[in-house]
Amino acid sequence: MRFRWVLSLALVLCGFTSLRSEAQVSAGTNLQAPAPVTHYSLPPDKLAKAHALYTVRTTLHFAETLYGLLLLLFILRFQLGAKFRNFAERVTRIRFVQAFVFVPLLTLTIDVLSLPFSLYGHHLSLQYGLSVQHWPSWFWDWTKSELIGLFIGSLLLWLLYALIRKSPTRWWFYSWLLVMPIMIFLMWLMPVVLDPVFNKFEPLAKDHMDLVIATQKIANAVGVTMPNDRMFLMKASEKVTTANAYVTGVGSTARVVVWDTTAQQMTVPETTFVIGHEMGHYVLHHIRKGLTFASILMFFGFWLAYRCINWFIARWGNAFHIRGAADWASLPALMLIASLIGFVAEPIANNFSRARIEHQADIYGLKITSGITPDYRQVAAQSFQNLGEHSLSYPYPSKLMVFWLYDHPDISSRIDFTLHFDPNKN
Ligand SMILES: [Zn+2]
Repeated sequence: MRFRWVLSLALVLCGFTSLRSEAQVSAGTNLQAPAPVTHYSLPPDKLAKAHALYTVRTTLHFAETLYGLLLLLFILRFQLGAKFRNFAERVTRIRFVQAFVFVPLLTLTIDVLSLPFSLYGHHLSLQYGLSVQHWPSWFWDWTKSELIGLFIGSLLLWLLYALIRKSPTRWWFYSWLLVMPIMIFLMWLMPVVLDPVFNKFEPLAKDHMDLVIATQKIANAVGVTMPNDRMFLMKASEKVTTANAYVTGVGSTARVVVWDTTAQQMTVPETTFVIGHEMGHYVLHHIRKGLTFASILMFFGFWLAYRCINWFIARWGNAFHIRGAADWASLPALMLIASLIGFVAEPIANNFSRARIEHQADIYGLKITSGITPDYRQVAAQSFQNLGEHSLSYPYPSKLMVFWLYDHPDISSRIDFTLHFDPNKN
């Protein structure tokens, strides 16, 4: 949903998607020592696939953004916002209930019309063997995320429009003040309420005591407390073939989550490096830093949206049957403005995530394993090589695409950095 950009922006900034620690070493091949990694490289068949996937995904990303903008223009042109508003006002005079009529009507229209992109995205994942999730299960996930999104979205937009009505000139500032506590609350909720709707979780200690022990060992070596009840395993293998680990939650729900695919496919030293990277996010307070950065960015975003929506309505309000900024019918215009701001904010947020947050976590992972794992550079390089190979990461992405779209450094850069890492200099 379009209005999710604020939350997703913050989540991107928080490194929520984290290290895509793709690696696969099957039990058989695991016994042979892999050839030392000197740089990131793919065998010819995988390179061809990776290039095709890179091209289609980057094209798809920009096509989807453009399509989203055109869709909103279409909705404005045919005055769907005004029609849905009239309907909501006929149903009830209570603004709170109107929100739960108007917002789902509009966002479902947008999301259903955007479905071809989501379908094609999943089709690609299946085609390239990155996903094993069957279509009914995929549709059920889509439905659940719509229901959750519609509920949270209706509630938040009711609040936003109440603020616009109360304070037509300062609503942007009050919304900005409120958005942080709301986001912190949602992030607190995420691992305990939202994530379990889509995936199964269990304590990492349940079946992977070896990983817990390895993690405790590196944590103790640098004097960090990493309690067992802060480490979880996610049953990702029911849906994907790729591996991953991430940090999520805040305060009492903060935790490191390792996908079971990672634990199955990587050696213990490799997984330990991955957990070391994630521990870096946890110890270096990256969620807090990400939220602060998002907050600064959103201050300008909200102000700009306020200026733009007033200008838009003064110019085209009559043509699109929008009575004013506080009218529900202004939402498609506000979404259009938010999408444009989001498009510009995307590389800014990704640069912060890639060049600062993720790079720092790589350094942390290397430092923390340097005293424990013999040949820790090679182990880390091997885990990146596996990561890239099994998620079909293209070795030669264009600088512009890395700048615009990558929230993690590209694999080639990560391996180069890792192999030349000097713990005394970094
Ligand atoms: Zn990370």
